[in-house]
Amino acid sequence: STSITLEGCGRTFPGGQVALHPLNLTIAAGETLVLLGPSGCGKTTTLRIISGLESPDAGGRVRFGERDVTALPIEKRDVGMVFQNYALFPNMNVADNIAYGLRIKGLSRDAIRQRLVEVMAMVDLQGFDTRRIHELSGGQKQRVALARAIAVRPKVLLFDEPLAALDAKLRDRLRLEIGQLLRELGTTAVYVTHDQAEAMALGDRIAVMQAGRIAQLATPREIYHRPTSTFVADFIGAVNRLEVHATLADHRLRVSGGELHAPHLTGVEAVYCRPEDIQIAADGNTDLRGEVRQSIFLGQSQRLLVDLGNNTFLQVETASRRQWRTDEPIGLLLPPEILFHPERHACPAK
Ligand code: ADP
Ligand code: MG
Repeated sequence: STSITLEGCGRTFPGGQVALHPLNLTIAAGETLVLLGPSGCGKTTTLRIISGLESPDAGGRVRFGERDVTALPIEKRDVGMVFQNYALFPNMNVADNIAYGLRIKGLSRDAIRQRLVEVMAMVDLQGFDTRRIHELSGGQKQRVALARAIAVRPKVLLFDEPLAALDAKLRDRLRLEIGQLLRELGTTAVYVTHDQAEAMALGDRIAVMQAGRIAQLATPREIYHRPTSTFVADFIGAVNRLEVHATLADHRLRVSGGELHAPHLTGVEAVYCRPEDIQIAADGNTDLRGEVRQSIFLGQSQRLLVDLGNNTFLQVETASRRQWRTDEPIGLLLPPEILFHPERHACPAK
């Protein structure tokens, strides 16, 4: 595997549409980097620049290891790609699709046969050799695409929303399998998705993208627990914002519904917390008081919408099986370690 370096890689399309502002990015050899962000933020453009399907604007450079590949077309870059729409050859059977790159490389019949058996086992497609593509389910088609991409042992694997067209259950399963495969192969990979669960599960690091720029680049844990902007905090999971009405003595903050203790957040205009970090008070000892306006049963948990007054609502996610009546009073505990502010990195580590 190889490292990948982008230097000043931007892309402005004719007509002035800036898909990507010039960015610098290094992906370590063997690393899986996830590009995460809403539709139109520049994920595919970044991936296409890495693959050679797209050129960066003048001045941009792409390196694989020490080697400058900026001028190389995709077929000379030694990359494997997997797309949302599979991009299989409909007139070839499964084995011929997977073996396509091996034939182009000019491998012997025996070598091709052997490699086919290997990769078909890796993606759990044994016995599907002569199946036609149109006879396959979406999940099976994506396994064929995956097998085709890895068959030639590329230096770099690139994924563009490969699971977006599949139903939820299959997506979860293939996500696990792709993660396992990437760990086994140790190939440098760039994985594009708009799905935060996929990004968390697969990324060694995640680059959250916003309007053609990287908003934050860090490990999944860091992105989740220490988002550096409200955009990132909001995009990765749910987040509550509580406006600070006044700073009191002893680092206490007055907010709707009560007072919070946050010595690491003095002077902030608002504090943030995740719904699942808030605890429900068992006795009268509470930080905030409110009333339950809504509860949504999610199976493994439930989500409460708590009205703190002053038009302030808090989402609380709890594993408790207790059922709250609408408008029932509730006490909440928000200990200092769950409170953060995107511009403050003093948030205690979890
Ligand atoms: P993503 O993959 O995150 O959805 P893209 O990289 O595909 O985003 O696109 C980023 C922006 O660039 C979008 O606004 C898109 O409309 C624009 N764009 C992408 N490809 C082209 C193109 N070939 N011509 C003009 N604009 C494009
Ligand atoms: Mg895209």
